[in-house]
Amino acid sequence: MQFKDLQLHKPILRALAEKNYQNPTLIQERAIPLIFEGHDLIASAQTGTGKTAAYALPMLQRLFTNPDTIKKSKKIRALIVCPTRELAIQIEESFAAYSTHTHLATGVVFGGASTDPQKQLLKKGVDILIATPGRLLDLHKQDLVNLSYIETLVLDEADLMLDMGFIDDVKKIERLCTREKQTLLFSATMPYKVTELAKTILNTPKKINVAANNTTATGVYQVLYYTPKPNKIELCLHLLRKTINQEAKIIIFRRTKYGVDKLESSLIKNGFKVCGIHGDKSQSARQTALNDFKKGEATILIATDVAARGIDIEAIDAVINFDIPHIAETYIHRIGRTGRAGKTGMAYSFCSADEKNYIKTIERAILQNITVEEEHPYPLAPNAKPEVHKKKGSKYKKGRKSEASKKKKKRWY
Ligand code: AMP
Repeated sequence: MQFKDLQLHKPILRALAEKNYQNPTLIQERAIPLIFEGHDLIASAQTGTGKTAAYALPMLQRLFTNPDTIKKSKKIRALIVCPTRELAIQIEESFAAYSTHTHLATGVVFGGASTDPQKQLLKKGVDILIATPGRLLDLHKQDLVNLSYIETLVLDEADLMLDMGFIDDVKKIERLCTREKQTLLFSATMPYKVTELAKTILNTPKKINVAANNTTATGVYQVLYYTPKPNKIELCLHLLRKTINQEAKIIIFRRTKYGVDKLESSLIKNGFKVCGIHGDKSQSARQTALNDFKKGEATILIATDVAARGIDIEAIDAVINFDIPHIAETYIHRIGRTGRAGKTGMAYSFCSADEKNYIKTIERAILQNITVEEEHPYPLAPNAKPEVHKKKGSKYKKGRKSEASKKKKKRWY
């Protein structure tokens, strides 16, 4: 299928040609006609499938062909709500690229940055607004955002939005929009809470599923290293020096923000070009880190799952799971970062004694056993038991009283 078979008009086709998109992706092929027909949509699709263009192109075309949008005082007619600032910026960049040959104005608002430029932008007026939930509601409270003209509402990365605790904000935003709007919900995974939300806010939606099924990408070679927890950093340095190509672009995933910071400083001390992202870093620090990584000034990006979700970074050669994720789907997302577009990629996982059960769950989900690499300098003893951290308890808390102490006790009566 070609883009022109999807009834897209010239200004949009021109922008797509400039982006060098040859053909629509599967989600675009399926979603664009349904969106044009005006259906609500629930789509299971991950980053990398082309989902942003799948909703952006029909939305832009509809606005572009609507004479109301040419009027001087602009009104927000399309709203895209997504969980993180990075994702919001990325979506805005896509909209800006696809709409270059139209008169449509796009804007983005997100938390963690000064409100002044965002207020200016809203005063000037936009046709399409991309927003994170908290900041959007903040600006709405200040009467800077009017959602009564919304024709299309998109909830992108809905599962992550709910994981991050935005459920009430999302529901509130939905209620602030017009009742007649079209709602499109995109989610990488479809847990119960997402389908429940969909039931309450979507109107007889059409369903699309193009998410990678539970088997992982075929171009990814997965290797498992069993190693004691305290040796993970040594193992990581060993791989970076001996096994992985020095020019490789690598993402290292850690479960916690503290873990990201700690590993970042260890790798910097060892002379690697590293940057780290997590939710506690300032917006500008996160953006700089991402830009450095995209430009190749840093070859290693260390990230928490939440910070890395939805971010589109091309040509990753290897993923290192420094900590094994507790959820199999997270593992699938992580390693899906590499081996894209017909290329091969590597996924290395470091498993300590306490993480063995997570590996079992992952292997069940991906329907395969991960190849174990035994030839490395920091092996885990086969019978190693998870470290048990004994609770010390309060020094003031007494245990059971001995019989002698009970006898000694003076009674008050
Ligand atoms: P997304 O899933 O929306 O994050 O998009 C993933 C990447 O695919 C982005 O870098 C897009 O620019 C790119 N992309 C989207 N649609 C197409 C297409 N039809 N052909 C080639 N690349 C595309």
